[in-house]
Amino acid sequence: MDIAFSAEDLAFREDVRTFFAEQFSPELQTRMRSNDFKAAIVDWQKKLYDRGWIAPNWPVEFGGTGWTATQKYIYETERSEAGIPPTIPFGLSMVGPVIYQFGNQEQKDYFLPRVLKSEDWWCQGYSEPGAGSDLAALKTKAERDGDDFIINGAKIWTTYAQYADWIFVLVRTSNEGKKQEGITFLLCEMKSEGIKVNPIISIDNEHSLNEVEFNNVRVPVKNVVGEINAGWTVAKALLAHERTSIADVAQSKRTIRQIKEAAAKEINGGKALLDDPSFQGRIADIEIELMALEFTELRTLAAMSAGGFPGPESSLLKIKGTELQQATQALRMEVAAHYQGVLPTDLDPEQLGHDFGSEARRSFMYGRASTIYGGSNEVQKNIISKFVLGLE
Ligand SMILES: Cc1cc2nc3c(=O)[nH]c(=O)nc-3n(C[C@H](O)[C@H](O)[C@H](O)COP(=O)(O)OP(=O)(O)OC[C@H]3O[C@@H](n4cnc5c(N)ncnc54)[C@H](O)[C@@H]3O)c2cc1C
Repeated sequence: MDIAFSAEDLAFREDVRTFFAEQFSPELQTRMRSNDFKAAIVDWQKKLYDRGWIAPNWPVEFGGTGWTATQKYIYETERSEAGIPPTIPFGLSMVGPVIYQFGNQEQKDYFLPRVLKSEDWWCQGYSEPGAGSDLAALKTKAERDGDDFIINGAKIWTTYAQYADWIFVLVRTSNEGKKQEGITFLLCEMKSEGIKVNPIISIDNEHSLNEVEFNNVRVPVKNVVGEINAGWTVAKALLAHERTSIADVAQSKRTIRQIKEAAAKEINGGKALLDDPSFQGRIADIEIELMALEFTELRTLAAMSAGGFPGPESSLLKIKGTELQQATQALRMEVAAHYQGVLPTDLDPEQLGHDFGSEARRSFMYGRASTIYGGSNEVQKNIISKFVLGLE
């Protein structure tokens, strides 16, 4: 995309580049890929907080940067180009925004600064067996006992629950009326008695997913965000924030650049794969779609900069963004070809098979999930048909 940046924008870009180059050290990168993952992420997020850049999408009054849509675009592009992972979304992109949108003053005062400073690691307790796409079918129940709720049930696919200090959890507090009407949004400390975290190992052989059991877990009523039995509204607002951040065009662009670099080195029948016209065509197809998506993402960013909240059109970003992520991941697998099986510890780092091959395999496998989490893409199409196109 060719944007004519102003002199201020170019100065801002320089500032961001310099900060990333100086602060995102090789040592930090190594720690992020090791067992020190959580501490390394928190250290990095604290650096962003100290610089005032931890929450670009928050309103300034709650700690946002006040950046224009163009500055946000520049920041995200530079972050991806520098190979820096996005901030962990559960606090900054999910529970933080719903607390400033729906929380009471006490909740804002206590939780928002802690989210900004990465003092608490959050996880998301929405899905259950039998309540994923049909989230309102959730059965984990919370019964009132004086000033507390007592939670019983189980959540599943809870990303990073093993690290979390807090979980935001959707619970059933009433069986009256429509199933959406009896849901409450609760904030619960993970160290509460009766919580048990059971690991789930995914296809990429990593442990990010979990089942979280609740056995008579007490949570104070003051930890309800919004009204009791009105949690569905809070839950939906949170999902819209989640979907906007899922598109990640900048990351897909970086992957395309890496694919081109690798394809230039990969010789097939005496010539570079990059010079193969059919391969070039496939790269061009993805690049054109990425450019179109980038404009759509910018329009959403501009609306949010003007004080709006992401609406159902964020479903479109989610669908197209994740489809393109999977297309780039599949292409990278093809370029990596038989080097996919090579582990980072094997062989000569200069070989195509080193980081490129293992990262291609890892991201391809985990990437299968992107069209499922944040609400599956099929369900996003239903949302677009109903709320954007007005079809029933
Ligand atoms: C890697 C990963 C991380 C996750 N992290 C979290 C987390 O941290 N916290 C959390 O709460 N959840 C998390 N999830 C869960 C995720 O939100 C659910 O997997 C998702 O909502 C889909 O629900 P489900 O798995 O129950 O599938 P189902 O709802 O059973 O869907 C199965 C299939 O049926 C299709 N389908 C279902 N209903 C419809 C419909 N009405 N119209 C058309 N097609 C339909 C779906 O698209 C899908 O293909 C994560 C999932 C993954 C894969």
